[in-house]
Amino acid sequence: MKYFIAANWKLNKTIGETREFLRSFIPAVQNVTDVDIVVAPPFTSLSAAAEEIKDTNVQLSAQDLFWEEKGAYTGEISPLMLLDAGCKHVIIGHSERRQYFSEEDVIVNRKIKAAKKAGLGVIFCVGESLAEREAGKTFDVIKREVESGLAEVDSDNLVVAYEPIWAIGTGKTASNEQAQEVHAFIRKILGNLYGDKAQGIRILYGGSVTPDNVDGLMACKDVNGALVGGASLKPDSFAKIVSFNKEN
Ligand code: PEP
Repeated sequence: MKYFIAANWKLNKTIGETREFLRSFIPAVQNVTDVDIVVAPPFTSLSAAAEEIKDTNVQLSAQDLFWEEKGAYTGEISPLMLLDAGCKHVIIGHSERRQYFSEEDVIVNRKIKAAKKAGLGVIFCVGESLAEREAGKTFDVIKREVESGLAEVDSDNLVVAYEPIWAIGTGKTASNEQAQEVHAFIRKILGNLYGDKAQGIRILYGGSVTPDNVDGLMACKDVNGALVGGASLKPDSFAKIVSFNKEN
């Protein structure tokens, strides 16, 4: 299975900074053929990023969308607008959206359906908080999020990202064993939903991935890529992650 590594820039980078990053990053990864390389800039930088990545091996993702196609929804962005801006993928259900914007499972599900209907690939995020992990609820939370988010959704063009909230932006990475344990569990739930097709769904790990820990995480059986926040903001750091050592 081809690895999938995506940069989630969150609320970072102007249009100029986006162009500057890509002009340095693209030459550094031009020979990488065994990884789907994706960047997710803020909405305002999407068109400029689409121009920069044209005819390269880098793909474009948005960080969110709204489920309606058009209408009186001030401030929102539709799936068709993202396609128009050059996006191939969209991140949905990130824990920061769940936490700061009250996005519940039902909203996440609605967004996934809208994205897929428009033909966008979905990077669907799930993950437990520290309190949930410490209370022994990790598997319950993951099961609920996966099953609710994917209700009446097929497996085409779907990537799932396991992002333990306690590891996001904290410098605390899940150990390889912790990551593999939850990834295997997600694969099992996907198997219940999609049968054999679950084997072909890429499950990314996200949470303080860096050039130093990426090799071990990617060597885990059910880890098929990464969603990277902080360490994706510098071209050399993200290029090193994308060029991780596959010999492990
Ligand atoms: C993220 O928010 O998707 C993420 C994984 O962030 P970081 O790499 O900074 O932990």
